[in-house]
Amino acid sequence: MSKKYVYLFSEGNASMRELLGGKGANLAEMTSIGLPVPQGFTITTEACTRYYEDGKKIGDDIKAEIMTYIEEMEKINGKKFGDTENPLLVSVRSGARASMPGMMDTILNLGLNETVVRTIAAKSGNPRWAWDCYRRFIQMFSDVVMEVGKKYFEALIDEMKAEKGIEYDIDLTAEDLEKLANQFKAEYKSKIGADFPDDPKEQLFAAIEAVFRSWDNPRANVYRRDNDIPYSWGTAVNVMPMVFGNMGDTSGTGVAFTRDPATGEKKLMGEFLMNAQGEDVVAGVRTPMPIAKLQEVMPEVYEQFTKVCEILENHYRDMQDMEFTIEDRKLYMLQTRNGKRTAQAALKIACDLVDEGMIDEKKAVAMIEPRNLDTLLHPTFDVNVLKAAKPIGKGLGASPGAAAGKIVFSAEDAKAAVAANKKAKVVLVRLETSPEDIEGMKVAQGILTVRGGMTSHAAVVARGMGECCVSGCGDIKINEEAKTFELGGKTFHEGDEISIDGSTGYIYDGLIPTVDATIAGEFGRIMSWADKYRRLRVRTNADTPKDAAKAVELGAEGIGLTRTEHMFFEADRIAAFREMICADNVEQREAALAKIEPMQQGDFEGIYEAMQGFPVTIRFLDPPLHEFLPKEEWEIAELAATQGKTIEQIKELIASLHEFNPMMGHRGCRLVVTYPEIAVMQTKAVIKAALAVQARHPEWTMVPEIMIPLTGEVKELKYVKDIVVKTADELIAASPIKIKYLVGTMIEIPRAALLADEIAKEAEFFSFGTNDLTQMTFGFSRDDAAKFLPAYYERKIFESDPFAKVDQIGVGKLVKMACKLGREVRPDLHLGVCGEHGGDPSSVEFFHKVGLDYVSCSPFRVPIARLAAAQAAIKEAQ
Ligand code: ADP
Ligand code: MG
Ligand code: MG
Repeated sequence: MSKKYVYLFSEGNASMRELLGGKGANLAEMTSIGLPVPQGFTITTEACTRYYEDGKKIGDDIKAEIMTYIEEMEKINGKKFGDTENPLLVSVRSGARASMPGMMDTILNLGLNETVVRTIAAKSGNPRWAWDCYRRFIQMFSDVVMEVGKKYFEALIDEMKAEKGIEYDIDLTAEDLEKLANQFKAEYKSKIGADFPDDPKEQLFAAIEAVFRSWDNPRANVYRRDNDIPYSWGTAVNVMPMVFGNMGDTSGTGVAFTRDPATGEKKLMGEFLMNAQGEDVVAGVRTPMPIAKLQEVMPEVYEQFTKVCEILENHYRDMQDMEFTIEDRKLYMLQTRNGKRTAQAALKIACDLVDEGMIDEKKAVAMIEPRNLDTLLHPTFDVNVLKAAKPIGKGLGASPGAAAGKIVFSAEDAKAAVAANKKAKVVLVRLETSPEDIEGMKVAQGILTVRGGMTSHAAVVARGMGECCVSGCGDIKINEEAKTFELGGKTFHEGDEISIDGSTGYIYDGLIPTVDATIAGEFGRIMSWADKYRRLRVRTNADTPKDAAKAVELGAEGIGLTRTEHMFFEADRIAAFREMICADNVEQREAALAKIEPMQQGDFEGIYEAMQGFPVTIRFLDPPLHEFLPKEEWEIAELAATQGKTIEQIKELIASLHEFNPMMGHRGCRLVVTYPEIAVMQTKAVIKAALAVQARHPEWTMVPEIMIPLTGEVKELKYVKDIVVKTADELIAASPIKIKYLVGTMIEIPRAALLADEIAKEAEFFSFGTNDLTQMTFGFSRDDAAKFLPAYYERKIFESDPFAKVDQIGVGKLVKMACKLGREVRPDLHLGVCGEHGGDPSSVEFFHKVGLDYVSCSPFRVPIARLAAAQAAIKEAQ
């Protein structure tokens, strides 16, 4: 039998998410548990994939199948497309496997034309409603299907409102709306050059295609990249009969959460609007009412709705985000899904569900989005400064966190500011946001909007991104064109500084300093469960005692990477180091290094102390020497003077150290091959520090791990290792205290991975430096890739940045192979990763599967890695 591409809601269920998409699967599930859902059908994600395979065409077989299901739907509902008695109107809705809120497009009231409008107007005795539906349909169809910008239609509505002297669109009469519909059609014709289509089936196929197409729109592509959703998944399309919330004062539409998505508190939350349709609630055309008010407006419906909420939460055993419509006092459920939530709310809900006996600890760990923890680990405002600060305004605390920065008024300006200076901190201030703003919202510290409620676009997207957002501050008088706004009696301009608090909704003039977060309460509970279930250890990359201490606080179980080069850049050391570089012979070099050794030893002691006996991996000097040389004329003159050399001699030296491709130049262990004294000095510092700390802390077992960078050949590693071993053994032999130490290497050159069995004969541990390994495997540099990667995304050659998310099939293959080869030679070979990837959830899962012993990441990502490691273990066990 040929493949089935279309399913009635009554044919599916929640487990068919891959095929039916999240929305379709849940509509089917709600149908099966007897909730009131308008009965339609879902066109599968496979049909979307086919659409692209067939060269962006809906195949004839699929078309025919859809036609059959239209008839089926007509029968079930007793209505027909274009009928003059009982015309059927439908919505066409996208729905991918993973929810992508607002990323793709929906079309409502499809099936309308002049005749049908007049039919429903007459039959209902409610021409205002009929024409409202029609003008909405023309607007949405033009925008979504034909890509005529929304703004043209909105301008016409605004004109009409101004003409009539009214503020809200509910005050438009049937005649006004009829006039608008005709104006819209004229607008359509002038933009498209053809009449607005009247045939419902023609409208439907155009709409279905538009949903398929929307899978590939730029904002969907950005969203997918940020959320690790593969392009290959495709979207399903849901076609279902319309129910009308815009039929008058006994109708309405709304959205609700079974628990508070900002705090996690167990109480029904939501908003609704009477006499409204679809996106009116989230688009901010009128200010919606809190869901509790529904009890006053329509007590029976409210009661029924709260029952439905309870049923759904018990059924899915998670907080639900629902969309509903009331048509003339009758409740319909249009969507349910596990709701997006802030990190704080996620932790509280997971803990509460465990306490309520709804889920077990493993499920609780599995349901937290690791990436989301980021917000909790980011700084919050310094309470002491905050106490003294006087807010200049207040909006809704829509997404928690603290943001302070310079004001920008558009997503483009936000992007430009951060492109010009990576460290730039901006706060995006807008009337309201729309999906086109995603990228600008992402780079901003926080978002402040004038309009919109807790479920507005800005609020939902910010929560999803874990970014601070204050929405709906109506006191702001904004002029987006002029790039100014007024608040609290002051005019703010682009570049002025403000601070916003996404928990309280307060807005402050100027920058308020922030403080680091800690793990406590529910966060601590979840992390302790995560630690129970994970196999992978989590270490940190830290170069200073302060970072190391922070990482331990956040649960790090060791250091996977201490870079020693930063230690040379400090003012008092760089002079000695330059002296070393300028030296004419070994004796001079050793004399210079002797000055650095005690400082370096001090650094290591500080780090060992901070790590409280946890293992510490120290990497020997890695960057090319020219990075340490002066660049300014005056610095060169100064160096010449202290070295007793001429300026010309120093310039010659600088020229001689110049490299054409420093990334592949004289660096890493190659430095030691030419200057063994450097390794001697660093070994002394590592071992002496360990001996000293061991003496002070007999309760710890110090086993320093010396890591040789950039190895590509075993003889090279052996050469360096021999120097390390000789130096270390002499020191330990002369000491009354005995310690062990390990010598290992980074695997960051493909050749080292290929020859891992050879390398493992000398190395006691491997640490995959996946940053360099990615650079060298792909053959492109991390610093330059940003210039051309966007073109690769656009052409679907790459879906994600291989420096952020490890390339599992290429780089990952090298990692897997090196692990296997290495362990064949040395079964107890210790394996870890110390690239940025160590803190990326999907990469962590990969490293778990490969069988590494640990991942190492920056201190603030340690909890993310702990959680991701637990999720990987739980997933594997299932
Ligand atoms: P999104 O995925 O962006 O939320 P939806 O497909 O859920 O888009 O549609 C947006 C809104 O349109 C819904 O919240 C609902 O209010 C309205 N809607 C969709 N289908 C129908 C329908 N059959 N009847 C009435 N309203 C509908
Ligand atoms: Mg929806
Ligand atoms: Mg490296």
